Amino acid sequence: MSREMFSGNLRNRLHSDEWLIWQDQYEAKENLKYESLFALSNGYLGIRGSHEEGTKITLPYLYINGVFDKSETFMRELSTLPNWLGIRLYVEKELIGIEDCEILEFSRVLDMKGAFLGKRVRLKDSKGRETLIEGIRFVSRNNVHRMGIRLYVTPLNYSGIIEVESIIDGTIINFYDAPRFKVKHTYMTANEKLAADGCYVEVATRENHLHVGCGCRIEAYADGKQILGNRMISRFGEQGVEFGDIHVEEGKEVEIVKYVSMYTERECPAYALHTTIEKEIEGFVETGFDQELKAHEDVYKNMWENADIQITGDDELNRAVRFNIFHLMSTGNEHDDHVNVGAKLLTGEEYGGHAFWDTELFMLPFFSWVFPKTAQNLENYRYHLLDAARANAHKNGYKGAQYPWESADDGTEQCPDWTIEPDGTCYRCYVAVYEHHVTAAVAYGIYNYVKITQDMDFLYSKGAEILTETARFLASRCEYNKEQDRYEINQVTGPDEWHEPVNNNLYTNYLARWNLGYVLSLLASIKKENQEAYDILIEKTGLTEAETAHWKEVQEKMYLPRKEGTRLLEQFEGYFELDNVTIEKYDENDWPVRPDALKTKRARETQINKQADVVMLLHLMGNEFDEETIKENYAYYEKRTLHGSSLSPSIFSVMGLKVGDDSKAYRYLRRAAFIDLLNMQGNTREGIHAANTGGVWQTIVFGFAGVAQREDGMLKVHPNMPKEWQGLTFRLHYRGAWLEITADGSNQAKVIRLAGEPVEAEINGKVTTI
Ligand code: BGC
Repeated sequence: MSREMFSGNLRNRLHSDEWLIWQDQYEAKENLKYESLFALSNGYLGIRGSHEEGTKITLPYLYINGVFDKSETFMRELSTLPNWLGIRLYVEKELIGIEDCEILEFSRVLDMKGAFLGKRVRLKDSKGRETLIEGIRFVSRNNVHRMGIRLYVTPLNYSGIIEVESIIDGTIINFYDAPRFKVKHTYMTANEKLAADGCYVEVATRENHLHVGCGCRIEAYADGKQILGNRMISRFGEQGVEFGDIHVEEGKEVEIVKYVSMYTERECPAYALHTTIEKEIEGFVETGFDQELKAHEDVYKNMWENADIQITGDDELNRAVRFNIFHLMSTGNEHDDHVNVGAKLLTGEEYGGHAFWDTELFMLPFFSWVFPKTAQNLENYRYHLLDAARANAHKNGYKGAQYPWESADDGTEQCPDWTIEPDGTCYRCYVAVYEHHVTAAVAYGIYNYVKITQDMDFLYSKGAEILTETARFLASRCEYNKEQDRYEINQVTGPDEWHEPVNNNLYTNYLARWNLGYVLSLLASIKKENQEAYDILIEKTGLTEAETAHWKEVQEKMYLPRKEGTRLLEQFEGYFELDNVTIEKYDENDWPVRPDALKTKRARETQINKQADVVMLLHLMGNEFDEETIKENYAYYEKRTLHGSSLSPSIFSVMGLKVGDDSKAYRYLRRAAFIDLLNMQGNTREGIHAANTGGVWQTIVFGFAGVAQREDGMLKVHPNMPKEWQGLTFRLHYRGAWLEITADGSNQAKVIRLAGEPVEAEINGKVTTI
């Protein structure tokens, strides 16, 4: 499909091909995948890329970040809210929709640069009438409370009346197609006229009674004149509908515009929601669809200026990389520090919109280097929930702050204890009970964020308190083994969830040790540099010298399993005694095939892993291991990792490059970049894999571009690109300066400063001032 198929309405708006993701065929069974791929978010809300007229297979969800509810389900999850996408066109009672007519032409396109979704369909109804519909949809990032759809409709071989039905649908429920998980998280509080025109639906969440309003109004235009006639507003239970009709003439295009606005009680009192939305829509109509779209595109233009990665010589991959950046940056919120980025962004229902360690270790580096304000918000989110983490530790019999494995709005553990299988059996889910490394990830996130941004205010006023409490938790999680004179963390699950629980997962022990060591040195430096901040910290945390002395001992005597006499790190105590199954076969895409041994054995009985575990440790703490150790362990675990989680390939890519396994690194990058576009995990319907989007960025920047920070914090750039790449360009925000980094085909990097004060960096092995 190409832009040439589109009329001037869209063709002239579309950016060049490297920014476009096409769907050029309608296949109902692909609907859910495309709903995720074509979801649009503006940091405040996200809406899946469903079709305006509705289709049989669809999960037409709309989420506002931070609006969670539990009700009778297992966890607080993002509540699906009234969906405003619905626009149905009828000619003599026939619905002009893709599933109701013969499709003569079909294409949709996600324009990532302009952040809008375009479409073109030519449909033939049962009476042979042909209608051409082109459309454009966006959720404004200029004003996050404005969203719009514009349809250009041309009756190709008939004249008559087109009836328009514009819907706000409050009936949509979470997990609509999963029988035992279905839940309605809201109840309706209003379904009424918006003003003289337009409809308004308001709902409230069932537990917190948080009100959310949605209003919309349709207009139709021909030759610049308003032509919508016989308007009518109807209420059908929880659906608000506005009708109107348009007299159409053969071959003559008309435009239908739907202006939409949403607010929640978090931004304005419940009693004022209706009037606020009414005014917002009036303002939107006055500004005009085009103007708002332009302002929205301008915001994205600025975002892309800093966030884009340009690869010369690998166009298809470059587009896929952009796709990942697009979704990640679209979800980040630079204005709200009470929301996080869920494991599926705002694009799907899996994991209920919860934040995991995915945020700190996969996504935060991108935000810290490119959108520091968003990164700071993500850090503040954890600070707001510090008390909840303290309560969580207390509840579980530990000290300090234990961050939940899955976090929603109130910081309580949201990883379900139980889940139901399709056959109705319940099984106990132990992830939250044993998987504790998220707390160390929060600590690592702060360390890394501050290292990149130098946000000392955050570190002194909030970060140090979190780090103290996470260290306190991790120390209390350790048991002293008198016989061996060492500290251990038993009954724990590491990143590789296929071995659950184990004793002494190296990754967890190592990060716990690191957190203790880091906070001890941080305490010393705060005391030296800022006595006042130090005193406040001690007062807030009640930290004593006896406690820090104990931490010192714990970190010195932490057990770090390894194979004696070799360089091999042991994923957990006893790992090497498990059945030594390795990956021997690779499929046509050069992807590991599940070993036959797993037909008769459970993965937990073997050395086969779900995802990067020891290799994740080497990624985070690489500076603490020598080259040979990294190399040997990479090779060992690469042979035993099946990448059952999307969090794995990007890390293997970065580490593959570090050990000189360049071709595998490139293969892993491709896997990560195309995971959702090609539905490689088979579950894109449930949403875009958020951690992987950040992982893809890391792969290019830390892997192929060789960006790192030295021990002393200085930026270092040492590219190592595939030979097909003739160049690579991107920008980073480093210590107050904006830098543009370019690497040429011979792996020589050039760095220029675009804004900010001069900074020092090590480029191609030489320290220079930029
Ligand atoms: C992975 C976890 C990850 C979670 C959410 C799981 O499948 O094993 O590491 O945090 O998905 O993305």
